[in-house]
Amino acid sequence: MDIALVGIGKIALDQHVPALAASGDWTLAASVSRHGTVDGIEAFTDLETMLAARPEIGTVSLCLPPVPRFAAAQAVLRAGRHLMLEKPPGATLAEVHILQDMARAQGVSLFATWHSRMAHGVAAARRWLAGRTIHEGRITWREDVRKWHPGQDWILAAGGMGVFDPGINALSILTEILPQPVHLTDAQLDFPANRQAPIAARLSLSQGIEADFDFRQQGPQTWDMEFRTDAGHLALRMGGNLLEIDGQRVGGQDSIMGEYPALYARMADLVRDRASDVDLAPMVLVADAFTRGSRNSVDPFEF
Ligand code: NAP
Repeated sequence: MDIALVGIGKIALDQHVPALAASGDWTLAASVSRHGTVDGIEAFTDLETMLAARPEIGTVSLCLPPVPRFAAAQAVLRAGRHLMLEKPPGATLAEVHILQDMARAQGVSLFATWHSRMAHGVAAARRWLAGRTIHEGRITWREDVRKWHPGQDWILAAGGMGVFDPGINALSILTEILPQPVHLTDAQLDFPANRQAPIAARLSLSQGIEADFDFRQQGPQTWDMEFRTDAGHLALRMGGNLLEIDGQRVGGQDSIMGEYPALYARMADLVRDRASDVDLAPMVLVADAFTRGSRNSVDPFEF
């Protein structure tokens, strides 16, 4: 099946292009980006022009940041094409509900991806936790924004979600593996004095779960979560890719390279089945943190 990629920046080049090149389901048939291109692929700088010029491309994958993504998503659905969204699926929850309604009306597939749910340890963690009771949990997601998002001012602007851009990956795993639904009870958000989105956040969630997200981490980077249950201890490390039970490594792989191939395989299944997959649970937790959380002003931040 032919697919077009829109927003040729960091994640498109790091993950989407290699995943599509290795896929038996997909042919990357066009790109759309104001500046970015993909070697050997027809490049457009305007989405509407591509949609009109290449009617045989049935699916479009959007790799734009969340704020500019909504208008592009509406254009794709209006043109009757299947749509795949990078995470988070919108800048607001209402945007995603609108996209769901449009996809339903057009009879096309909509996939709101959560790449971290495809990490190597996640499915096994979900199976192990089924039927167990969580007594407490701790999520530590601490990374250096200068290293992973160099110069991306949008991430600390309104709608960029700040540290929730990576933190929502942890929440996407959490909401996938827990046997019971979880909700936010309290939050502390640290906003740099010169920015509109938090650079760090601490969340309290039901089931005794605490989350610590920080974009200012120097040295070792941490993407871990641990749970004490009525029948043992589970840890997921490396963004969900390594699984430990009672301190012993039992599965997974120290690599994120399987996540995007798995997303594109899932998208192919959805298109074949004329189905959609949209789960807003991770984004509800983030929205609730902005609604319920206390706001602290911290030092200005420059890339
Ligand atoms: P990025 O490189 O800053 O942006 C991707 C591309 O979008 C840019 O190269 C730019 O292409 C286009 N773009 C940026 N701002 C725009 C605007 N205001 N209007 C129209 N086009 C705009 O971002 P990214 O790191 O790839 O992240 C994109 C999405 O992927 C985000 O939602 C992020 O959460 C998600 N993601 C990122 C990572 C990562 O490690 N970076 C990992 C997983 C998921 P042109 O200038 O060529 O149009």
